[in-house]
Amino acid sequence: MKKVLKLNARSVVEVKDGGECQCVKLNFQVYKDGKPNFGSHVIIYRREETGYVFDYDEWEYFDCLLPREDEIVFDGELEIDNTFCEYTDYDVEVGKTYVYWVGRERFGEYLTGPAPVTVRDRRVWWHFDEVLEKTYALQKDFPELITLEQVGNTVFGKPLMAIFAGDRTKPVVACVGAVHAGESGPEILLPLVRELAREQSELLKKSCLAILPVVNADMREKMVDGAPWYIRTNAAGVDINRNLDADWDLTDYSYNLSSADYRSPTYRGPYPNSEPEVRAVLQFLKLADPRVAFSFHGPCSVTAEGMIVSKSATGDEAYLAMADQIKQIYSDHFRDAIDFPKRENYKAGIACSAGSIPTYLYHRGIPAFDLELSGDLHMLDGSIRGNTTPEMISLMVQAHKAGLISMLKRYGK
Ligand SMILES: [Zn+2]
Repeated sequence: MKKVLKLNARSVVEVKDGGECQCVKLNFQVYKDGKPNFGSHVIIYRREETGYVFDYDEWEYFDCLLPREDEIVFDGELEIDNTFCEYTDYDVEVGKTYVYWVGRERFGEYLTGPAPVTVRDRRVWWHFDEVLEKTYALQKDFPELITLEQVGNTVFGKPLMAIFAGDRTKPVVACVGAVHAGESGPEILLPLVRELAREQSELLKKSCLAILPVVNADMREKMVDGAPWYIRTNAAGVDINRNLDADWDLTDYSYNLSSADYRSPTYRGPYPNSEPEVRAVLQFLKLADPRVAFSFHGPCSVTAEGMIVSKSATGDEAYLAMADQIKQIYSDHFRDAIDFPKRENYKAGIACSAGSIPTYLYHRGIPAFDLELSGDLHMLDGSIRGNTTPEMISLMVQAHKAGLISMLKRYGK
């Protein structure tokens, strides 16, 4: 039996001929009768999947695919190190989705695949290394204004770094990014803090912006590496925004999914605060002790000012009135900054689930919001299909910067 196992396809950046180029790396293992080192003949099939978009169900879409004879892109010898084998496909384009199969013989019984990969735009999806690099650069470039603190780790042990811009003894406005892997955070928040440090040093003497740019760093890395679909949960399969010890045992049915079901992308986890990322968020909130907090959602690295508060606040008129007031101020400044018509009488959506960051803060009397897309901001529509552009991100950096400045002014003293 000639077998190929563990086929994995990743989109990577390589330095080639003095410049950076994006390519797809296939990694797999080859065996014969359970033994390694038996020759190196490999056949690789590849198909461009133009029909696949970000929000499709990946299993339904990819599982039934089979390769065709004319899709062979490699038929020859590859070097095998013990059982490990690698193939690099340089003939790929940013934004496209490809599917690969690998076998030992043409249309043999043992083709392995499909392995789908989307070649992601690195200006829109930043690797965790880049997030860390940009975080440390902030502290280096603005030592008087910026302090950093590690608040915890991910399941895979990545350090989660909080950024404090301004005077930490003054009132704090807090932002959390990428609680859900396929959503927004670091690409908006890090440039925003840098601009704020450059332009608003006086304001930052009276206030502080605390930022945890990425929470679900493990699975976000999978998206950057090219998982074509939307990923929500952490590496342990838990929805971080359902796992906090805040009405945790109330089962939530958002999106017609049950947060009590371990197969659901909204799974709340085995017990409250079970996930290391959640404990990092709690440590961050403890250190920040914010007056107001914003959690960045929205698909594919951008979000607008669609602001929702905890479902647990239902009927709490005083809290909702306070939330409405903050929404109006944030939204007015947000929209002014990008020349977009203001929303009249903008009311709080009540939609954040049990176990979410806004629910946790609601029980402490702190106005807290998930930020989502806004229905009328059609310039961001492409993000739902995975087609966020660098221009959309720049626009949202300006808009959210204006919104957050209005908050720093409101609370600062
Ligand atoms: Zn989300």
